[in-house]
Amino acid sequence: MSDFDALIQRVNTCTRCTLSRKRTNAVPGEGSRNADVVFVGEGPGFYEDQQGRPFVGPAGQLLDQLLASVGLDRKDVYITNMVKCRPPNNRDPLPGEIAACKPFLDEQIEMISPRVLVALGRYSFSKFFPDEPIGKARGKPRPWNGLTVYPMYHPAAALRNGNLRSALEQDFRNLALLLQEDLSSSRTEEAEQSEQLSLL
Ligand code: SF4
Repeated sequence: MSDFDALIQRVNTCTRCTLSRKRTNAVPGEGSRNADVVFVGEGPGFYEDQQGRPFVGPAGQLLDQLLASVGLDRKDVYITNMVKCRPPNNRDPLPGEIAACKPFLDEQIEMISPRVLVALGRYSFSKFFPDEPIGKARGKPRPWNGLTVYPMYHPAAALRNGNLRSALEQDFRNLALLLQEDLSSSRTEEAEQSEQLSLL
């Protein structure tokens, strides 16, 4: 079993916080383990809890549409949440629950080692930059621990408030540009390194 599979198994059997008591399924995350971009939401909802998969309800359908709008598929990215078990009645996750689940997210980020982390919504964004309002931060990529954190509104917020949808669509277009720029600059670096090696 790979280290990643072992991590998923630990999430699926975790009882570190009380969210384990009422879950149907834990929702570790899904997608490519070599993804350039990892999406981090808040926590599973009703449909996610039933299926054990992230973002499969209405917010997930919007996320799929937004990914497709910039030529991405959920198989190309990795999708997970701050807490891996559903908070009852879809309430906000409590600080103790987020803290208990944090090591799993940290391990996922370390193992996947993406170029860009998309923080979906204020809870996810606060993991990286506490106390900053998502409304001001959204759409502005910034460095964090050698990666780029890109804050966006949560798709569920755009479903509740249609005014946020165009901002989310714009942020996805800019994400695609960011990934292209990142890829071309890393290719340039690789080309420079191999040129230097050939001169040795
Ligand atoms: S939310 Fe995280 S820490 Fe709490 S039981 Fe689920 S997997 Fe464990």
